Amino acid sequence: MIYDVCVIGAGPAGMTSALYAVRSGLSCVMVEKLGYGGQMAQTPELQNYPGFPEGVSGFDLAQDMGKQAEEFGAKLIRAEVTNIDFSASPKVISTPSGDIKARSVIVASGVESRKLGCPGEAEYAGHGVSYCATCDGNFFRGKDVAVIGGGNSAAVEAQYLAGICKTVYLVHRRDTLRAAEIDVKHFASLDNVKFVFNSIVDRIEGADGKVSGVCISNVSTGEKRTIPVSAVFVAIGKTPATEFLQGNVDLDSTGAILANDSMATSVPGVFAAGDVRQKNLRQVVTATSDGAIAAKSALQWCTHH
Ligand code: NAP
Repeated sequence: MIYDVCVIGAGPAGMTSALYAVRSGLSCVMVEKLGYGGQMAQTPELQNYPGFPEGVSGFDLAQDMGKQAEEFGAKLIRAEVTNIDFSASPKVISTPSGDIKARSVIVASGVESRKLGCPGEAEYAGHGVSYCATCDGNFFRGKDVAVIGGGNSAAVEAQYLAGICKTVYLVHRRDTLRAAEIDVKHFASLDNVKFVFNSIVDRIEGADGKVSGVCISNVSTGEKRTIPVSAVFVAIGKTPATEFLQGNVDLDSTGAILANDSMATSVPGVFAAGDVRQKNLRQVVTATSDGAIAAKSALQWCTHH
């Protein structure tokens, strides 16, 4: 079968573009390696998505967005996209379980967690090194843990972990957080969050195959010390998930897709939506907006080609 649209990624941008595509009469398949929601599904509570004054679970909202897209006729294939051929007609999207053919493509593959790159990080990944507090925090209930980073993600992760862990060390390389003011203020009410500022991670230590401590250096004084922790949650930002495009679509220096106001990329018939594209504000609300626009552009493309 040749689909009108293949959407790569089923986060809020992908699910919204699929919803708008099928509702405008296009056949549409979403390809997603994990479950619905992407980053959103790992967010315990969204407090800034309009229409939910009490907040809403990112996971629950993701399930509802996916259900809505499927009920209007979008198909979901669970697979990782490993290769693409956008020069072919129809375009080819390759996965280990087979090729998908589509007249247009919406890339909504989101972002991936940035790595520290220090010794011990890869060795203990899944054994105390984590990139998602809501996924793994429960394994460290009542234990001492560290969160690395100073942005919104680190603040959200630290606040979540403060509710279940004994002590949360928030290790940041500067002396102030860049997280939103509302989150920074919230820390004042959390006795078990300890700030470790001006500090970089040298390595992550382990014993018996699991994390036992994080070794840090103070960038001002040069002092080195090890904080004994059972887990290290790395929250130092995200990088766009564009490796599978293998240079076939124009990217900026950070690897984000360059797309115009219509979500059109450098490749005719290929559109981008959500966090994967170069933009100023990466939020669920901007992702869903991108998704709707990308679907409209895909409709125009399919109508004229
Ligand atoms: P971010 O805002 O880019 O912050 C990354 C943090 O990690 C910065 O504090 C940075 O330090 C630090 N960092 C980067 N590389 C590092 C390294 N190699 N070693 C140590 N520290 C390092 O990333 P984010 O917090 O993941 O947020 C990403 C986007 O999602 C942002 O636009 C954010 O606003 C959004 N977001 C929003 C919410 C919300 O609205 N509630 C929640 C989560 C994320 P420096 O400060 O020194 O650069």
